[in-house]
Amino acid sequence: MIYPLQVLIIPFYDEWPSILVRTVYSIINRTPRHLLQEIILVDDASTMSELKEPLDWYIKTNFPTGLIKIIHVPTRQGLIKARLKGWKLSKGEVVVFFDSHMEVNLDWLQPLLTEIKINRKTVAMGVLDYINSETFEYRFNEGYMTRYGFDWRLVFFETFFRQDQIGPSEESTRPGTVMVGAAYAIDSKYFGEIGTYDEGMKVWGGENLEMAWRVWMCGGRLVHLPCSHLGHIARSQPYDFPGGRRNIEVFNYKRAIEVWMEPEHKQFVYDHFEDMQEVNVGDLTDRIALKKRLNCKTFSWFIENIWPELHVFNKDVFAWGSARNLQNNMCLDNHQYLFQAPEALFAEVCHYKLSTQGFSWTREKLLRTSLQCVVLKEFFEGAKPKLEDCIIGPRDTWMHEKSGFLKHEKTGLCLDVDATGPVMRPCRQEVISQKWQFNQYNY
Ligand code: UDP
Ligand code: MN
Repeated sequence: MIYPLQVLIIPFYDEWPSILVRTVYSIINRTPRHLLQEIILVDDASTMSELKEPLDWYIKTNFPTGLIKIIHVPTRQGLIKARLKGWKLSKGEVVVFFDSHMEVNLDWLQPLLTEIKINRKTVAMGVLDYINSETFEYRFNEGYMTRYGFDWRLVFFETFFRQDQIGPSEESTRPGTVMVGAAYAIDSKYFGEIGTYDEGMKVWGGENLEMAWRVWMCGGRLVHLPCSHLGHIARSQPYDFPGGRRNIEVFNYKRAIEVWMEPEHKQFVYDHFEDMQEVNVGDLTDRIALKKRLNCKTFSWFIENIWPELHVFNKDVFAWGSARNLQNNMCLDNHQYLFQAPEALFAEVCHYKLSTQGFSWTREKLLRTSLQCVVLKEFFEGAKPKLEDCIIGPRDTWMHEKSGFLKHEKTGLCLDVDATGPVMRPCRQEVISQKWQFNQYNY
């Protein structure tokens, strides 16, 4: 098999020089030389003087001539535009984008290239391993297939394929991974065809989700290959965001959702960001034209086929919105849950925003939020209901009628609320605090 030529593109902003150099050494030591055409380092207007002449000199004197190109851009571009700068200079058939604090593992590249060779419309990623930022210990991630997901806050997180999703099922029927991460390989021409990045986005944030949606919806695919391992130093960001990180994220997210989501999905996101509606994100005509030109599928298609674990509050449900207690007008609330860990369920004054008070009673009889299911861990009177990951956790079923009970099917206990929050009690018709009402019913 003839492999295409690779170019690695590594933007950096104020990266510690030894870490940047470690990244480069690991690539050189662990990539077959005939597969590596060039490494392009893009200094995104770093402020550290060590990253200027001393770095140029180090590269010049320690590496083969022509293997490493370094460009210093005069003003900070942000990750998105810095990657694009590197891509425009590259001449390889395949480009690999990297963060500046990585350590590649043995034979990391070949699996990625193989998948691109099989289907050029592929974003190929390996398994990201954690490198501890204080000890530099490399923790090899094995035993499960990495997958990334996101919720309606657009926070992405690492998750897993369930056993039944890995098994013998055809790849084409398996749901996908939904994030482009710190490192991926892509056919350089395809990267152009698919619309590179949204250049209107700023600094960092949201570009990974936008790209994932675009690739899947417009005919490509994202793969995580378990035999390719890449270490990434997990550390807090050593730089600031002009205007504040949150404002930049809201800006970038809004650009992404306005192009790719349908109105109902956008509303779910808006419910998490009170100020998002007001933000002016500038002109989106080019991105909308791109979506048309590429004949992309809808966001509903994306959720159904690639990320079916993300619950659409009003889809396949008997009741949804917020669940209000008739006795004290408190609503079930998830307090901005984290993922996976079993979390407490709360009752708070109703604000009816889906952000923390979005609950559905689904056709599968689950009582759930966008990613978590309400379950019991203990089966006695007085037990506190918990929120558990719906993807890999248990899935208890509940009965609900408009009369109000939310009854846990397995135990027959009813969801009640007292001063300590939601609690399970034997069902009694006359107890008003066992009566709940959703704001929308579909029957
Ligand atoms: N980066 C950059 N310019 C910026 C911000 C980040 O070139 O304005 C680089 C950064 O040095 C790193 C990459 O973009 O190589 C990704 O950023 P980071 O690692 O902070 O993102 P994280 O891994 O935390 O998501
Ligand atoms: Mn990083």
